[in-house]
Amino acid sequence: MIKRRKTLVINIGGVKVGGDNPVSVQSMTNTETSDLKATLAQIRRLSKLGCELVRVAVNTQDALKAMPEICKQSPVPVIADIQFDYRMALGAIDAGVSGLRLNPGNLRKHWQIKAVVQEALARKIPIRVGVNAGSLDQRILQKHKGATAEAMVESALEEIKILEDLGFELIKVSLKSSDVQDTVRAYQLLAQKVPYPFHLGITEAGTRLRGAVLSSLGIGILLAQGIGDTIRVSLSAPPEEEVRVAWMILSGLRLRRRGVEVIACPTCARAEFDVVKTAETIERRLSGLKQPLRVAVMGCIVNGPGEARLSDIGVVGTKKGAQIYVNGKKLKLIPKQDILSTLVKLTKELSSNYSKS
Ligand code: SF4
Repeated sequence: MIKRRKTLVINIGGVKVGGDNPVSVQSMTNTETSDLKATLAQIRRLSKLGCELVRVAVNTQDALKAMPEICKQSPVPVIADIQFDYRMALGAIDAGVSGLRLNPGNLRKHWQIKAVVQEALARKIPIRVGVNAGSLDQRILQKHKGATAEAMVESALEEIKILEDLGFELIKVSLKSSDVQDTVRAYQLLAQKVPYPFHLGITEAGTRLRGAVLSSLGIGILLAQGIGDTIRVSLSAPPEEEVRVAWMILSGLRLRRRGVEVIACPTCARAEFDVVKTAETIERRLSGLKQPLRVAVMGCIVNGPGEARLSDIGVVGTKKGAQIYVNGKKLKLIPKQDILSTLVKLTKELSSNYSKS
């Protein structure tokens, strides 16, 4: 059982982050924010896959114009990603965002920071301080001789202090680097210094496979130590993939479960049917189900029956056909060509019984 780090709790449009609240999953749209139709369509797809908070870049006047409608129609709370312009932050707050991602130090004048922070405080809108190893201040880089974990922590503490000095504590922090070890160390160090919840992520992690592996390592190590309250997997791939990987990390650590988890054997010469294709197809066809179910796809009787019995639904290849298991019990032997249709049908039935119960 993982013992979570004690933190303050913030509320982002109804999603509580920190304390004993479930580690939430978030992602970021990659459409033009000004393209209302495309942005909302992507947010809806992300939400269906289990994305609980969505961030959108508010980088132009056209993007800002789209924000009221995005906030109104989005099925999940919207966080505005702001870089340098305080007017974008104020506009996004007016548009109805539930959170801001903004480094106060990036705003040029203190009165601009104050204006944004006061407005956020008045509307109880949390702000994420997001330190990125790739954009640290030269002064800090020189002092620490590079973008080290200590440099990221110092930068975060400076940003946090700006907010605290203005009486603002609805803070969430991220410390992102593409280096897993630096990221882990930075979060560990900061965890000893501040009470705020953490947004975890490995930035610029890379393409689908590399990004998923590095994110799983960085986010997984920290979550296993009880550090981290909301996660974003960053991939150079469609954001829908980020949400899938995020849920796999959470379910792999048994922190949360959602949807169908397909476990499958690696296959070998003993496999009695095409395990890889079956597992991939099942995963894709059942990706819309929300109820947590475990489906085992096993090539033969060596390890198959054991795994199938431990799963909600299982299939094991045998010389005579495919043995189906439901709720740990042998159900029936079916022809191998019926494996896919049978697994899909049984899993959907179990899922709908689950939602009724
Ligand atoms: S379950 Fe059977 S087919 Fe699958 S890897 Fe093990 S021995 Fe090979």
